[in-house]
Amino acid sequence: MNLEKNIKGKINACHLLKGFKDILPEEAVYFDKIVTVGERIAKHYGFKKILTPVLEETRLYRRTTGDGSDIVQKEMFSFTDLGGDQVSLRPEFTPGFARAYSEHGMINLPQPVKLYSVGPLFRYEKPQTGRFRQFWQLNLETLGEKNSIVDAQLIILANQIFKELDIGIDIFINSIGCHTCRKQYLPILTRYLRSKKNILCENCLERIKVNPLRVLDCKEEQCQEFLDQAPQIIDHLCEECQQHFTQVVEYLDTTEIAYELNPRLVRGLDYYTRTTFEIFPKAEERGRQSALAGGGRYDDLLENISGRAAPAAGFAIGIERVMAKLKEKQPDLKTNKIEVFVAQLGVEARKRCLKIYENLIQDGFNVAESFSKEGLGNQLEAANKAGASFTIILGQKELLEKTIIIRDMESGVQEIVDLEKISLELKKRLEKQKIISQQS
Ligand code: AMP
Repeated sequence: MNLEKNIKGKINACHLLKGFKDILPEEAVYFDKIVTVGERIAKHYGFKKILTPVLEETRLYRRTTGDGSDIVQKEMFSFTDLGGDQVSLRPEFTPGFARAYSEHGMINLPQPVKLYSVGPLFRYEKPQTGRFRQFWQLNLETLGEKNSIVDAQLIILANQIFKELDIGIDIFINSIGCHTCRKQYLPILTRYLRSKKNILCENCLERIKVNPLRVLDCKEEQCQEFLDQAPQIIDHLCEECQQHFTQVVEYLDTTEIAYELNPRLVRGLDYYTRTTFEIFPKAEERGRQSALAGGGRYDDLLENISGRAAPAAGFAIGIERVMAKLKEKQPDLKTNKIEVFVAQLGVEARKRCLKIYENLIQDGFNVAESFSKEGLGNQLEAANKAGASFTIILGQKELLEKTIIIRDMESGVQEIVDLEKISLELKKRLEKQKIISQQS
């Protein structure tokens, strides 16, 4: 074997790439919880799962996410594949969903088509807390419908996910209008920004040339006061956009969901039209990179990639950031509490326990074992560490008598039951335990 060594003669170990993150088992319980809650709520709202490739043609992102966006300008993992095609790792979900929608003729299905996905995304950003080069999103899109109720329902759905996860949020919304409104608004904005040329940061000055709307997104301290005073697109919406946004707000007002209008919320991508929204932790818990979710409407994107127009809207939740919040709230989260630990004593009992274990899984129990361990003490210790409610113990004697011991891990009380009835006996005890814990 040809092992790479450093100057001291030691083997050069392999390391995680900068900006990438391993989600270790103790963190994966938070990941699973978010995905489980998110997928369940998405399905309740009629969303169906779609899995699009992680690698797509680079031009898909150039035509959608847009040449004016930071993502396309400087953050894509792009390369030429072995066949000479220009390809990129997915930096966001929406373009892939839109491509699949048009490529598979979903426009001919009853509209809207509601799709969701969970998966990793790649952006070559400057790594910092809550900002990675690979991160995961739960992404939902409603394609083929322009009605404002879709926008409101997406916000309601997002709110429901955070409510169920017990994470306090603030929702910000805005409308950035359509091409008609922008034709009128952008010269007014540009004029204002140029008049502040001496004050604005370098990034803003660059953005005035490429995409003046994005200047409003600047986070630099020195620009804030002037950007807050900039002319607002909300005052320049065409009649249709004005009406659309009023309806979104009216729909939200029929719910108890609190939201705030933020006239500077333009989002970082080129394709947004009309509604934009972003979700943050509550103000007192907000850090620098703290947006938990963001989305909006994109009525022109589909036409740009397929030539056939279809309005659409969607949003994405950043899973790592929500994981961090969930961890703060529930440091001891254990999904899938272990109900039954299977312990064995002796070769024959161990063989039999393999089958018992399999049967218990089929009967729907959350089970655990440490079959490679010898001795009851070691196994009970493992059962305790796993947080099991009950341990069942099979030894030589029980095997001969066709019985098994059930040990209540909290009280230590042990009872001998008929081996054939083990599932029934465990169900009875777990049920009783549940009732007691609900009463206390
Ligand atoms: P976007 O796709 O940019 O609209 O982002 C939607 C959500 O994804 C954000 O609100 C964040 O929660 C999350 N997110 C975006 N970029 C990153 C990143 N580089 N690292 C971690 N999370 C991210």
